[in-house]
Amino acid sequence: MLDPQPARVRFAPSPTGRFHIGGARTALYDFLLARQTGGQFILRIEDTDRKRFVPGAEDEVMESLHWLGLDWDEGPDIGGPYGPYRQSERTEIYRQYAEELVARDHGYYCFCTPERLSQVRQRQQKLKQPPRYDGLCRSLDLDEAQDRIDGGEPYVIRFKTPREGSTTAVDLLRDPIIVENSTIDDYILLKSDGLPVYHLAAMVDDYLMKITHVFRGSEWLPTFPLHVLIYEALDWEQPIWVHLSIFLNPSGKGKMSKRDAGVKEIYVLDLKQMGYLPEGLLNWIALMGWSYDDHTEFFTLEELIEKFSLQKLHPSPAAVDYKKLDHFNGNHIRLLSTSELVDLLRPYFKREGLVVDEEILQQIAPLVQERIRTLDEAVEIAGFFFKEAAEPETSELIGKKMTIDESIEAIRRSYEIIEGVLTLEVETLEKMLRALAEDMNLTAGQLFGILRIAVTGQRISTPLIETMVVIGKDEVLNRIARALDMLESYAGAA
Ligand code: GLU
Repeated sequence: MLDPQPARVRFAPSPTGRFHIGGARTALYDFLLARQTGGQFILRIEDTDRKRFVPGAEDEVMESLHWLGLDWDEGPDIGGPYGPYRQSERTEIYRQYAEELVARDHGYYCFCTPERLSQVRQRQQKLKQPPRYDGLCRSLDLDEAQDRIDGGEPYVIRFKTPREGSTTAVDLLRDPIIVENSTIDDYILLKSDGLPVYHLAAMVDDYLMKITHVFRGSEWLPTFPLHVLIYEALDWEQPIWVHLSIFLNPSGKGKMSKRDAGVKEIYVLDLKQMGYLPEGLLNWIALMGWSYDDHTEFFTLEELIEKFSLQKLHPSPAAVDYKKLDHFNGNHIRLLSTSELVDLLRPYFKREGLVVDEEILQQIAPLVQERIRTLDEAVEIAGFFFKEAAEPETSELIGKKMTIDESIEAIRRSYEIIEGVLTLEVETLEKMLRALAEDMNLTAGQLFGILRIAVTGQRISTPLIETMVVIGKDEVLNRIARALDMLESYAGAA
């Protein structure tokens, strides 16, 4: 019964903040299981907590999921057979089930005022008892409750947690959790504003939407037994429950939280801005709670769909390791075609205010492809292609462990070689310059270092010879001549 075919899974974010990698991982696992089993991936917006509602958060979830390529089959924007998919549009349904619980004697109306509840809490604090509802309204007669409701008294509906016995909650990744019912509070299910809390709304929706597997964060483990009790009270068959592991911050110590965002961003759209590919991000988060075997680490989304399995999910905390992300992302960049990479790189150059020459962009895409880990790194190593030639620092034109005179000679002889060839061509030029280095008793690194500064104005760039070919003979000669001038006048003045 581990993988009912086909699976119906839902991603159920609350629009209470920005969309981060934890949510993305849950959505990814949902998506993988749905696609693998030919089932459905459902997006449900859990927006009944109006106090924590953040405008725009729902849009950010959708934009992020689309960008990641995790498209849903049913959702608030596209509808589906079990809609609506926004909880604020389903409030009548929750009321109906809350009342059903009352009718089955698994729920009750409670009229306690906030003042009374706070007195109860203070008393419990003094007595060092755990905070919980004291059960005053639990035994209220239903007729009396109805009269008070008719009289306009505000009320909530609470779950009537059994006082005896214990509840066993079974999670796929852990040992069964067994809890004494006497330790479980009589949770509010329907608030005085008529809106449900998560404990009611999510259970009702998962049931009505025929969800087969619930993937959710392990922050729900403490109230998991309550959820099981609600299922039992309504005589519903439970889904397979999977509580995913928590994230640890990059040091591996402590729980990852949004406050750690300063370390490096955890929000999906920010990671996009930082130059990560959806493929890189998905590969990275897929492995934070799941593994295929003990060595395979590189996966495309297609491979993940094929290889994902519930049996290989694990509950141990996952370290958020950005070095790994860079590594995966670089590998996925290498898989792109030139035209894909060109399209992805263009906005990063433009963002820096550079005027992009399309022909040059075509030529430099393959040159950066082997070297970058994030798309924005292309701007660092190749942005100079779209700028006036930056004037190098004179001191930087002196080669490593070389005198000024040796450096001048190296630049002069390079100039002569380049001037002497008809057109610049990578293989011949490289051979000739390497021969020059050898003749001068220099390493290629020493010579290329000087020329790189002369031609690009920077120490790190796309590969030198290829760069010169793209820039073109005349401009390369101009830049080398300028470097020669600079160094000669520097030597003359010294
Ligand atoms: N709305 C809940 C949250 O955002 C969803 C938990 C669940 O998937 O059941 O935490």
